Amino acid sequence: MMNRQTSEILYKEAEDLIVGGVNSPSRAFKGVGGGTPVFMEKGEGAHFYDVDGNQYIDYLGAYGPIITGHAHPHITEAIKSAAENGVLYGTPTKLENQFAKMLTDAIPSLEKVRFVNSGTEAVMTTIRVARAYTNRTKVIKFAGCYHGHSDLVLVAAGSGPSTLGSPDSAGVPTSIAQEVITVPFNDIEPLKEALSKFGDDIAAVLVEPIVGNFGLVEPKPGFLEEVKQLTHENNSLLIFDEVISAFRFHYGSAQEITNVQADMTAMGKIIGGGLPIGAYGGRVDIMEQVAPLGPAYQAGTMSGNPASMAAGIACLEVLQQEGIYDEMDQLGEKLEQGILQHAHKYNLPVKINRLKGMLTVFFTDEEITNYEQAENTDGEMFGRFFKLMLDQGINLAPSKYEAWFLTTAHTEEDIDQTLKAVEAAFSQL
Ligand code: PMP
Repeated sequence: MMNRQTSEILYKEAEDLIVGGVNSPSRAFKGVGGGTPVFMEKGEGAHFYDVDGNQYIDYLGAYGPIITGHAHPHITEAIKSAAENGVLYGTPTKLENQFAKMLTDAIPSLEKVRFVNSGTEAVMTTIRVARAYTNRTKVIKFAGCYHGHSDLVLVAAGSGPSTLGSPDSAGVPTSIAQEVITVPFNDIEPLKEALSKFGDDIAAVLVEPIVGNFGLVEPKPGFLEEVKQLTHENNSLLIFDEVISAFRFHYGSAQEITNVQADMTAMGKIIGGGLPIGAYGGRVDIMEQVAPLGPAYQAGTMSGNPASMAAGIACLEVLQQEGIYDEMDQLGEKLEQGILQHAHKYNLPVKINRLKGMLTVFFTDEEITNYEQAENTDGEMFGRFFKLMLDQGINLAPSKYEAWFLTTAHTEEDIDQTLKAVEAAFSQL
């Protein structure tokens, strides 16, 4: 067993000071049967060091943003020089134009953007703007997709596509949940049913085009095309939540991969290079609903702050380098094949969904294409696997619904070491 005594002490202290000891619930080890979260102190490339001096290979990637590895020199330099010039002005800056140009150049459907401070804010605002544009109130979303913690998207499915949602969190009024209909991902019939029942009230259909929140799950061929067609036939707007997927798989969004363009797109994570950020954008006529041009209000003291802009620009500059995504793909392939070989050797039920440098290892014999299937995978086995990996210095996300994120900093050596740990863990499962 690795000695993590200092983490134990700090967690006890944190529990007295901070609700649940953590500032975001998934950081507590609830998803893996409990335990003490590791307090990290330093990140360097693909590696982490905790407060007891233990070293880890990091596949959490801070839940997605850290695609260039920790403390990438180009991003660090950008943040330093932004800090030297003052981190917040409350006025427009040249950096905002520069960064907006980079995003709109990379993602053709973004005719105009607006920067905010988190993925939650970005998604929340796309919904408000869609409601303003369509003069309708209801939203259809897909089971298991996560869209941040604003009221409207913290809603669970009703008993079928023709029923309205119920609150998924205390504090979300039933009246708000009633504005949301949840349907299964990768299944077009329930969406059709929901649209035919509530069509005139549906402002938008909101989806993660490549899902990251019940593990990595890609849309079946033709699924997003049909979603778009049905959405537009109903005069509703199609919103893509690309908070995870933007710049994760290539230099751009999931829209260029799937060949389906959204009316509006929400982003976050990677585009901040590790600093707080969100952004939303889309068609000009829709975006012109937003204040100061239009009647839909959205604002932010911290929005477009120079430090986040500089870090985001620097991060995208790194991602523009030739071959970066292919390298993550190759390492991902090696990791996937290695894990599958060990699973075969130890006769374990393992399925892997992978796209480029992002993958989810599911403990199951079934293909995972929707949330219900992901729910049915073996969470208890995942919990034991997670802890066996952590004790060997491999930091995974503490939930069976998350993904492993490779970065530009991971090496073949890291993968070899990880696969050794996987074999040892599998031999004990
Ligand atoms: N949308 C998606 C797809 C996400 O994965 C997340 C965060 N995991 C969010 C929205 C919310 O982003 P944030 O945590 O930055 O508010």
